Amino acid sequence: MQFAERIKRLGTETAFDVLAKVNELRAQGKDIISFSIGEPDFNTPENIKKACKDALDRNETHYKPANGILELREVIAQKSFELRGVKVDPSEVVVTPGAKPILFHTLHALVNEGDEVIYVNPGFPIYESVINFLNAKPIPLPLVEEKEFSCDIDTLKSLITPKTKLLIINSPHNPTGGTLSRSDLEAIAELAIKHNFYVMSDEVYHRFSFEGKFESISSIPGMKERTIVVDGCSKTYAMTGWRIGWGIMPAELAKVVTRMIINSDSCTAAFTQYAAIEALKGDQTESYKMAEEFKARRDLIVSLLNDIKGVRCLKAKGAFYVFPNVTEACRNLGFKDSRELQDYLLYEAGVAVLARTCFGSKNVGEKDEYIRLSYATSREQIIEGLKRMKRAIEKK
Ligand code: PLP
Repeated sequence: MQFAERIKRLGTETAFDVLAKVNELRAQGKDIISFSIGEPDFNTPENIKKACKDALDRNETHYKPANGILELREVIAQKSFELRGVKVDPSEVVVTPGAKPILFHTLHALVNEGDEVIYVNPGFPIYESVINFLNAKPIPLPLVEEKEFSCDIDTLKSLITPKTKLLIINSPHNPTGGTLSRSDLEAIAELAIKHNFYVMSDEVYHRFSFEGKFESISSIPGMKERTIVVDGCSKTYAMTGWRIGWGIMPAELAKVVTRMIINSDSCTAAFTQYAAIEALKGDQTESYKMAEEFKARRDLIVSLLNDIKGVRCLKAKGAFYVFPNVTEACRNLGFKDSRELQDYLLYEAGVAVLARTCFGSKNVGEKDEYIRLSYATSREQIIEGLKRMKRAIEKK
């Protein structure tokens, strides 16, 4: 087949490759403990499932407005105000099948070929993939352990040029669990306003902010009009397979993104949207319980990782990931990089983790090695998995 040129520039999520290997090994009867998957291990709360079943029984099975039903957009606007403290009009909300389409469509709507887009690295691999797909210039913003994987403002300043069109931030952050403080966000906002670029703020992990209150850049004066907030039900309500997310953005942009949806999806499934209304408006106990459990698991996994010779792990502040430094472990085992450690742990210890490079290429001058562990798995699995890792890493 003769594919279009642009397809060569489309990346992927290599995490799915590891998932495929895990499934293959399990199919062969191997006992694998997986820390690779980026989704809650909890089930969707019953009240949300019931709202979906009720919607089906009411025959809510037809097309809906491309930007989402008004009732859902009103609830999103209200809940966003309560969370972020910024007034939102339903015309500034666009509902999509998951948060991912917001990344895809808004970048398409805003970024021209040759524009520069700054994005956090390590980071969610789809950012870099879509920037490349658009033939724009990806400019990685290094997040470093010394800064607890927040943002170094001087580094950011040095990357801004007249061609900078947009900056992508993500707090709490996948894969490091780092967060951006109010003062980080204020400094970023000052630069965005001064240099006139947009900010895409990926806030899908906002409920899992373990140290202090969640902060959104959209709440800083002058930012609402240049921010695209990315959010959804996947992580907050354990609804990854439902495919429901949304973006909050200037109404003018919302109209263009809606046109993108008319061309691609028509709309998000009707009954899923009714489930999302219940998710947002209904009882939040289950979601907060899940957040509490993640926090306890974070404490457990961080202490077990720090007990392994050659491994050093910061206490992640949010999301459900930790990003330990494994430089010394790699050296002790004679491995070139964390990719070799990833394979060793999978095939020798039956533990699946993701190498740093699943989250973008290394930054210039980056010497240390890291892996990501998702602790969206039971405490028993965490204890057993870390026991296996310790045995395998300390073997030599
Ligand atoms: N943004 C980040 C940082 C993520 O980690 C993910 C999922 O892993 C998404 C967006 C996509 O979420 P959704 O399932 O709502 O498309």
